[in-house]
Amino acid sequence: MRHLVTGGAGFVGSHLVAALLARGDEVEVLDDLSGFGHADRVAADRPTAGSRVHPLCAWTHGSVLDPRAVERVVARVDRVWHLAAVVGVPRVLADPRRAVRVNLEGTEVVLDACVAARVPLVFTSSSEVYGDRAGELLREDDPVSPGATTSMRGSYGASKALAEWSLAAVRRTTGLPILVARLFNTVGPGQSAGHGMVLPRFVEQARRGRPLTVYGDGAQRRCFADVRDVVEHLVRLADLDGAYGGTFNLGSRVESTILGLAELVRDLAGTGAEIAHVPWAEAFPGEERDVRGRLPDLSRLAAAVGSVPTTRLETTIAAMLSEGARAAAPAP
Ligand code: UDP
Repeated sequence: MRHLVTGGAGFVGSHLVAALLARGDEVEVLDDLSGFGHADRVAADRPTAGSRVHPLCAWTHGSVLDPRAVERVVARVDRVWHLAAVVGVPRVLADPRRAVRVNLEGTEVVLDACVAARVPLVFTSSSEVYGDRAGELLREDDPVSPGATTSMRGSYGASKALAEWSLAAVRRTTGLPILVARLFNTVGPGQSAGHGMVLPRFVEQARRGRPLTVYGDGAQRRCFADVRDVVEHLVRLADLDGAYGGTFNLGSRVESTILGLAELVRDLAGTGAEIAHVPWAEAFPGEERDVRGRLPDLSRLAAAVGSVPTTRLETTIAAMLSEGARAAAPAP
């Protein structure tokens, strides 16, 4: 089978590409490398634009906003995985319009190409579509609530939600097999500390013996799933014909507070790093408040594939810490 992974050079995308190649499938990647804003993302084993790093993998340097580039690669494959997006709260806040364009228009371009070539599509949406719904179990059929338009953060969740509506409409009118997976907080090896996500930041800070920056009181909660577990479940889901037409929460069911996460990283790193509370208003000036919590109902995923991601957070953090240690080690 031949796949296209848009955003295949990104964090989740590169794990997905590796999983598909590992089972002997062929993979095309379309990526504009815009997620490589920081040197720590470009490890030596990462692809460069246009290079062929694996005999079964072809890389195209291009944007999902370029219909011709998208059509060309979609025409060559049996399944499309559309992961390309502007991700990370700081990047979204820095340029909300770009986030909307890439996430919404980019999906429209990919969708049009899939319809034209009659290629099944797997779309990674986001738990951000639910907005701030602390204390609730979030179900796929719940109304979306990405937030007020005066808060720029909502642009990300709203663009993902609108993209989902477009996919649903196309699914209804054309019968094209389309699968939507709403990814909750996904973490693990290869994740950049440069995009603002909390765990790679804490790992990097602990490794450097710097204070771990907890925004606000640290009582906000998230469920963190290991990227390898997420990708495994995504692939298993996409292999089920019956999953197409459905929308699935995908993530972990285990909640952590952000302060608890900082303490865990500090303890596992053993570097005695301090924990520093940074006021929310200082971390994100102009944004009224943080999302206090997000807990997925995973029963639909469990019913479809028979399991949910369960990798222990300690295991993931240990893998991230040892990866950082490897990167920091002097060349032999
Ligand atoms: N966060 C934090 N310190 C950091 C980065 C993030 O306390 O250095 C917090 C952030 O305010 C949020 C949580 O960690 O409450 C998760 O942030 P992330 O950006 O990883 O994911 P998201 O907010 O999109 O779920």
